[in-house]
Amino acid sequence: MLKAIGFDLFNTLMVVHPNALNVALGRLVDTLLRAGLSLTPERFLEVHNQCAVSHIKEAKATGRETHNSIWISEALKAFNYHLDPHGEIIGEAVESYFSAFYELSSVIPGTHLILGELKSRYKLALVSNFTHYPACIRILERLGLRYYFDLLLISGEFGFRKPHPSIFDMMVHNLGVRREEVIFVGDDPESDVKGALMAGIRPVWSSYVLDQRIPFTPGYVAYTVRPEEVPGYRISTWNDLKALLESLE
Ligand SMILES: [Mg+2]
Repeated sequence: MLKAIGFDLFNTLMVVHPNALNVALGRLVDTLLRAGLSLTPERFLEVHNQCAVSHIKEAKATGRETHNSIWISEALKAFNYHLDPHGEIIGEAVESYFSAFYELSSVIPGTHLILGELKSRYKLALVSNFTHYPACIRILERLGLRYYFDLLLISGEFGFRKPHPSIFDMMVHNLGVRREEVIFVGDDPESDVKGALMAGIRPVWSSYVLDQRIPFTPGYVAYTVRPEEVPGYRISTWNDLKALLESLE
């Protein structure tokens, strides 16, 4: 019997405007310049991008989540600034960077309706790969999504990121259900689908963003999808999820 449903956040419940990353990076540099640092924006962003990609690739390889403050401080070292990653200047830079995402995020149509319906029948969990926990919470609150979830697991706070099995194990443990009583819905064939499978949880691949040709949430390391190779269930709309749930009952 199905008792709980886990959801990914980005490109599963919400999308971000394709220009958000550029706006975010512009705000990041502005904050550093306003703090009195002497940087050439183009050169800084180039180095920052290299540092971000390298840390994100490492996080993907090890499963241990990283944080923007680490690669910002590393990028600044190339300009002879040795700032505390947990200090005020980098902290402000991180916040101004993420402010772009608060403003440029929107919920996928029908999401409030389906989550409202499911909430009365299942325990709901949100499991997101998101480096900066406070920003994730702000996005959830701003979009009115936080209320639906019995459990929030954000990689930036938990320490590990999908597809690492520990984050799925924690989801099952905290929901108080058995693995076979949960399904996990997400758009990323690696993090969401393979991750759930590796943890013994049935995956549901949401191909909505792909099918609607909506640009993926801008990121530093993109993923590619070969639909025919994605295992498990596939949904393209929330009606597909409803039909799937009926067939599973
Ligand atoms: Mg996603």
